[in-house]
Amino acid sequence: MRSLEAVLQDWEAVIGLEVHTELTALKTKMFCSCKIEFGAEPNTHVCPVCLGLPGALPAPNKAAIESIVLAGLATGCEIEKRSMFYRKNYFYPDMSKNFQTTQGPVAFCMRGSIDLEVTGLAAKERSDLSGTILPSVPLSTSTPDAYLTRIGITRIHMEEDAGKMIHVGGVDGRITGADYSLLDYNRCGTPLIELVTEPDLRTPEEARLFLQKLRQIYLTLDISDCSMEEGSLRCDGNVSLRRRGETTLGTKTELKNMNSFKNLHDGLAYEICRQAEVLESGATVLQETRHWEPASKRTVSMRVKETADDYRLFPEPDLAPYDLTDEFIEAVRTRLPELPDAKKQRFIERHGLPYADAITISADVELARFFDATLRELSGDAAEGELPEGELSEGATLRELSEDATRPPALALARPVANLLINDVTAWLNANSLTLAQSKLTPAQLAQLAQLVTNEIISSKQGKEVLALAAETGEAPAQIIEQRGMKQVSDTGIIETIVDTVLATHPQKVEEYRNGKTGLLGFFVGQAMQASKGQGNPKLINEVILSRLEK
Ligand code: ADP
Ligand code: ZN
Ligand code: MG
Repeated sequence: MRSLEAVLQDWEAVIGLEVHTELTALKTKMFCSCKIEFGAEPNTHVCPVCLGLPGALPAPNKAAIESIVLAGLATGCEIEKRSMFYRKNYFYPDMSKNFQTTQGPVAFCMRGSIDLEVTGLAAKERSDLSGTILPSVPLSTSTPDAYLTRIGITRIHMEEDAGKMIHVGGVDGRITGADYSLLDYNRCGTPLIELVTEPDLRTPEEARLFLQKLRQIYLTLDISDCSMEEGSLRCDGNVSLRRRGETTLGTKTELKNMNSFKNLHDGLAYEICRQAEVLESGATVLQETRHWEPASKRTVSMRVKETADDYRLFPEPDLAPYDLTDEFIEAVRTRLPELPDAKKQRFIERHGLPYADAITISADVELARFFDATLRELSGDAAEGELPEGELSEGATLRELSEDATRPPALALARPVANLLINDVTAWLNANSLTLAQSKLTPAQLAQLAQLVTNEIISSKQGKEVLALAAETGEAPAQIIEQRGMKQVSDTGIIETIVDTVLATHPQKVEEYRNGKTGLLGFFVGQAMQASKGQGNPKLINEVILSRLEK
């Protein structure tokens, strides 16, 4: 098979996603009062309604309707005031009702969109920058290949989840070859929202970015834990090819089992290459559902696609159509939190973050919350109140320093805080396989660390060490540097002595430097840093060395 890059030169990929999200933040199911709980003892959260026993009547969960309206408003959808539920009939053991309650042609949310900013390597997959690209939106001066594209959302509808089957005795938990299957109906009737996109995506990277952004929006709304591992966020990818310049759609295949961002990207990339090979051999693509196998890196056919008629969809007689009032919709609108795009704007405009940093932080709910909490620490009294007393540098105590009028105001510390978060904190978390929530690091600690580094009480190199200790022990950075004597030496006299010793030890190199080998500066700084046991202020060391060598 040819590479994705080569294929996309000749063909345009057309991709649409269907994203199922369980509303895990809700306490109870869609049409009954059974508890929603992942990992509970099998079949302990079931009742006549979610099992579909004769005579049981459904009663809709208002909180679930609020959640889907919230999702619709956050993705620019129009909220349909009048919509209803339908029965989608099929037999499969994971659904004892033999029909799924879902929505018909009109869903609660219709006609929305999400804008994607595609930058850096992700932008490289798109060789033809025409089509749905919005006109001349300057994204970043540093990455001229970045672009903005608007992805239409067809609809978001409400439905209920099915139960879980556990196949015993086969390979990989697949049904084929299994000896028997176990059924757990706990998940039956869990409210699910399904978002369907227009076929507006053009590369696997765009698909990945879309799903990541949608996940962050849902996490911000706090309607689901969006765990791809536990299956509360599931995505199917539809993809077809057409010759560049063509406007009609080709025959699509639908990919299942895209249970991670990487799988979504890699599965689509494989499928694009496979379809290109089929089409280039003169054959046609079959409309079918295919399963992505990450281990063998290929997709295999599961079944030829069913059509809506096969499900004998008909209006649910036990549920009245909805008439959402304006008051209800407006009340939900007031609950809309600040969304990632707005956050990014605020980080740039109010806190002066560089564009790339603002994207990184706003694109991650946890990171953004931590960043804001840290800024609150810095602007409020909390930070100062927590600083311990103690001699730190040239007679100044930390408390005095924090009250020093020359110290950068809280907003000026936004950049160093962002820097620490994006680089040092993220690196430390990755190295320790932890998330922010799992670590002991607090916004108060990060606020203090940013002050200590910015005020040059410790070097940024020492900052990394202090961060690691703070995150491990939960201790305050100021306490850590005091206990371990990690102060940065900014005493000019001491630095001068160190530098003079270093230069005196290497007369040959000093000679070479003066003869034009200025690259040796780094060598001298390194030696002086070593002599100061890593505590010398690197900026000061640099200055002193330069002034000595220039003599
Ligand atoms: P189906 O009837 O097979 O479920 P839909 O029309 O409901 O198909 O679309 C399902 C998803 O597939 C949507 O996200 C849509 O954008 C996408 N899609 C539809 N047609 C194509 C196509 N020809 N190529 C790629 N994606 C498509
Ligand atoms: Zn129930
Ligand atoms: Mg469909």
